[in-house]
Amino acid sequence: MGARRGRRAAAALRGARRLCHWGPLVALAVVAVCSATALADAALWYWPLDTAGGSVNFIVLLNWTVMILYNYFNAMFVGPGYVPLGWAPEKSQDCMYLQYCKVCQSYKAPRSHHCRKCNRCVMKMDHHCPWINNCCGYQNHASFTLFLLLAPLGCIHASFIFVMTMYTQLYNRISFGWSSVKIDMSAAKRDPRPIIPFGLSAFAASLFALGLALGTTIAVGMLFIIQMKVILTNKTSIESWIEEKAKDRIQYYQTGETFIFPYDMGSKWKNFKQVFTWSGIPEGDGLDWPVRDGCHQYSLTIEQLKQKADKRVRSVRYRAVEDYSGVCCPVTKGVKTFFTTPCTEEPRIALSKGDLILATRGLKHWMYGEKILDSAADGGIRERGWFPRKCVEKCQYDSEMDQPMDGEKKSR
Ligand SMILES: [Zn+2]
Ligand SMILES: [Zn+2]
Repeated sequence: MGARRGRRAAAALRGARRLCHWGPLVALAVVAVCSATALADAALWYWPLDTAGGSVNFIVLLNWTVMILYNYFNAMFVGPGYVPLGWAPEKSQDCMYLQYCKVCQSYKAPRSHHCRKCNRCVMKMDHHCPWINNCCGYQNHASFTLFLLLAPLGCIHASFIFVMTMYTQLYNRISFGWSSVKIDMSAAKRDPRPIIPFGLSAFAASLFALGLALGTTIAVGMLFIIQMKVILTNKTSIESWIEEKAKDRIQYYQTGETFIFPYDMGSKWKNFKQVFTWSGIPEGDGLDWPVRDGCHQYSLTIEQLKQKADKRVRSVRYRAVEDYSGVCCPVTKGVKTFFTTPCTEEPRIALSKGDLILATRGLKHWMYGEKILDSAADGGIRERGWFPRKCVEKCQYDSEMDQPMDGEKKSR
């Protein structure tokens, strides 16, 4: 009994620690402000509960909040699922196809990666999300994506309530003079009079919540589109990058191989069903994965080993063609770059034209890499971080790859 109570206390403590981080605190504050304001606006002013429509509206609003929070906490507390410590494949000869994680003292199961924040090998790792302060991976992919779908839908409903409340409440109070517009906020204009009159503070709260809701709709909606693409192609963000590097490696060595990504089952519906099931538990065990014809269990891990062995190709060399100041959401690099800034605490690196970068991974509009510095000048400090893809250009591989680089260094 004591042991069980101890375990439960430890789990509660772990949960509390997950929650006490800027990501979940900000996310929950946004949910709280938007839903509380929407419920109050609807019940008090725009659509009171004494009508059937008003009651339905209120219940639907409440429902969004419950479903959003349910999926959010599920994604956060269920977590991605970790590769068991000390894990090894059933057949010992399969070990040669896998990388070994020294921290977890286990082989890295196919599709798993070690997360430095979680300090564990995460099954089918997509990324570490600071907003849930956890990784998005095998077990929580469905709840995470459902949250990304429901949050914008709830926000759109709430935005409608905010706009209609402000519009109907202001409509009768605005009077137009010769050269001025007057708004009289003193009296309640609705009939029958509401318990609390719509005042300036209610107006300000509605306006603020509207801003939050619209921002959330755009930002989270885009994340939803990205995750749907990941699910329908059955290819995580990390695996997209591995595939890009595989194509690069094959092109460079002219080996004539064709790399086929093994986990895309060839049908969007099949890929979808792997993640979304009626039971809520995804297909499989997170360690063994079904593969398409012509591939086998270790097709991807063998490719990863090849890339690891081949350091030169592991990082793709890029050259900066535009300056970049290092801010998170650059205004001058295009709308897509602005809105798709990576949701991580990892740093950004400033670039100036001509800088060379070894990129190790990337998103559609952003890349992560290390600046190639003059080792004597920088004193061994490594500059690693994110930068917009728009600011760089891939360097072509050729036999004299190092020569122009050296020449450029001297000329600077
Ligand atoms: Zn590990
Ligand atoms: Zn993580």
